[in-house]
Amino acid sequence: MLSVRAQALKPSLTLAIAAKAKQLQAAGKDICSLSAGEPNFDTPAFIREAATRALESGATRYGPAAGEPQLRAAIAAKLARANGMVVTPEQVLVTNGGKQALYNLFQVLLNPGDEVLLPAPYWLSYPEMAQLAGASVRVVPSAATDGFRLDLQALEALITERSRLLILNTPSNPTGLVLQQHELEAVAELLRRHPQLAVVCDEIYEFLLAPGQQHHSLAALAPDLAERLFVVNGFAKGWAMTGWRLGYLAGPLPALKAAIALQSQSTSNVCTFAQFGALAALEASLDCVEEMAKSFSARRALLTKGLQQLPGLVLVPPTGAFYAFPDVSAHGLNSLDFCNQLLDQEGLALVPGAPFGDDRCVRLSCAVNSATIEDGLNRLGRFLSNLN
Ligand code: PLP
Repeated sequence: MLSVRAQALKPSLTLAIAAKAKQLQAAGKDICSLSAGEPNFDTPAFIREAATRALESGATRYGPAAGEPQLRAAIAAKLARANGMVVTPEQVLVTNGGKQALYNLFQVLLNPGDEVLLPAPYWLSYPEMAQLAGASVRVVPSAATDGFRLDLQALEALITERSRLLILNTPSNPTGLVLQQHELEAVAELLRRHPQLAVVCDEIYEFLLAPGQQHHSLAALAPDLAERLFVVNGFAKGWAMTGWRLGYLAGPLPALKAAIALQSQSTSNVCTFAQFGALAALEASLDCVEEMAKSFSARRALLTKGLQQLPGLVLVPPTGAFYAFPDVSAHGLNSLDFCNQLLDQEGLALVPGAPFGDDRCVRLSCAVNSATIEDGLNRLGRFLSNLN
């Protein structure tokens, strides 16, 4: 018999579409996928070499559960430098990806019955992880037709005495939107009015910005909230290190101590030699990150332009990350039916918006080469003209 927790866990709709795409491909069908959530670049060579050197020189044993001391110090320095967040290395936990940072945080912060405030559209793992910690999720709605802007009035109306944690993600997966300084300042004001509420800022796409965009960190704008502000970040997206499973959590010491204790009783330390790759990434200039970000910007522009030329879509042009999240509901299908039919008819794999909190939308990724984006846009165009 499965636990109540396990029974409540939803299987991933995203994976179901990906599995179907693979099956069709194996059966010889010509499949184009714009569903990737990871850079199509190799990890930069100097990072691979640093990890190899660490591996060869014996960094193959258990390390401290919280992470290698040099890496924690480098992360604290990076947070101060790039995000205006002042933390000591003791306030940093190295995790198996940003995902485990979020998981650990939710486990140590949330009690059954607590409420998590989640602006939609959201990354699909947040609600599942919050529910695994026993919390209930209150979704703050938004719509493509309103630019997906964060509705602070709607957010504030959902706050109760059980509200415990607000989740912010900028740049956003799936919309590609970047929160502006004035929006974050308004969030800070709201948090000051509700002292029971902590906030976690997931900044994993911070370096992937369209030209002219700037990433703002709440930590820099509201240092007075330091006692209840957490940052989750990782190396996967910026440095093309998805498979390395390297992320981190930073925030107030009591919660960090608890998250470290949890890690010491669950996964222990992140792969020791991999951490030396991350250290090399942080110690180097951001040239390699900027080069990849530039390439994503060109592809984001290509995807945006192509989508804007298709009929019946409401697109809020993405300004960060590597996704676009158009509203396709004018074509009369929910997101899962849309994606299934698109895959069956045109062999194009996209991700349905439903698990991201908006069943009117589908997610396209531009973390693929330009030819694949163009191929995908052609298939989508054909599909839409056949629907009408
Ligand atoms: N946060 C967001 C918004 C993401 O999109 C992802 C990955 O897709 C993650 C966190 C987790 O990344 P990782 O665990 O690979 O570091």
